[in-house]
Amino acid sequence: MPQYNEFWNPYRFVPRRPGQLPRRKPQGHHLFNGWLGTIDCELEALSSLVTGQERFTRKRSANNLPVIPGTSLKGVFRSVAEIVGHGCPIVNRDNRCRSSSSLCAACRIFGYLGRGVHAGHVSISDAVLIESPVDPTQWEGIKVRFGRPDPQHKAFYPTDTRLQWHKLYHHQPRRTKPAAYPHGNAREETVEYAPAGSRFRFSVTVENLSSDDLGLLLYVLELEPGMAHKVGGCKALGAGSSVVRIVDWDLRRGENRFRTQAAKEEVMEEIGRYKEQYINDNSETMQALRALMRWDPNDTREIRFPDRNWFNRNPQTKLRTWQEYAGRNARP
Ligand SMILES: [Zn+2]
Repeated sequence: MPQYNEFWNPYRFVPRRPGQLPRRKPQGHHLFNGWLGTIDCELEALSSLVTGQERFTRKRSANNLPVIPGTSLKGVFRSVAEIVGHGCPIVNRDNRCRSSSSLCAACRIFGYLGRGVHAGHVSISDAVLIESPVDPTQWEGIKVRFGRPDPQHKAFYPTDTRLQWHKLYHHQPRRTKPAAYPHGNAREETVEYAPAGSRFRFSVTVENLSSDDLGLLLYVLELEPGMAHKVGGCKALGAGSSVVRIVDWDLRRGENRFRTQAAKEEVMEEIGRYKEQYINDNSETMQALRALMRWDPNDTREIRFPDRNWFNRNPQTKLRTWQEYAGRNARP
């Protein structure tokens, strides 16, 4: 019996779309021919949610409610847009967009800072807590350890992955709180987490966004039914699974900005067509994305980093593929 099937590593890789990145000049901010307005969203935590970013600083709203920083949400959505919209990978310096006059969809929507600056057509507010099963002053803190288990095991953690692959963390529905990962050689920290069922509100402000880019934005916000985002800290430890729902919106064409607003349904129908192309897309990239972002509350698989003993026993074993993960998922 191989040691292999006892547990799954906390992340897996999605293959990036093949071929040349489609780039173009972003809409100028002085020419208002794109979409503008606001999209109001609600984020619901399906698992524990560590609201702070890297250092888990507790940010609060003006009336002292916990918030998820807008910059954190932007990172989440940009990352999905890179996969879905064939954008440049922010983690890979060599393959990034190089000029503000020729940008991928992710840089056009969320902004670009390099040779020239493109501010992006979207800004995302902090998400403020609106409801939680536990009063936020009583949210639990838990001690967790960070640090990757053993980066020396190149057979398991390949080094060429950044070019063609995109890393996604698994949902871990069996965990009600972040796992206290015991093997990390790095620091131990206490993190506070929002319990599952906590709900936050945020808004996305759109300015001069083209129709196809707006379609991509709508896709990455809500995803498809049954899929969920990973937001905030401690993703490898089981935190962060969240769904986003658009609860209201007010969008119009730039050229109509001084006229009456078009009928909402008509507008959404038009934008919906651009979102549809991603829903109907059965490329390997999209299949992998659906498989790895699927939230299945009945999935009881154990997910954790391998420890040193495991690596010693399995020096040549490779990280399993998304297909292996998805195949196992389909069986009882
Ligand atoms: Zn780019």
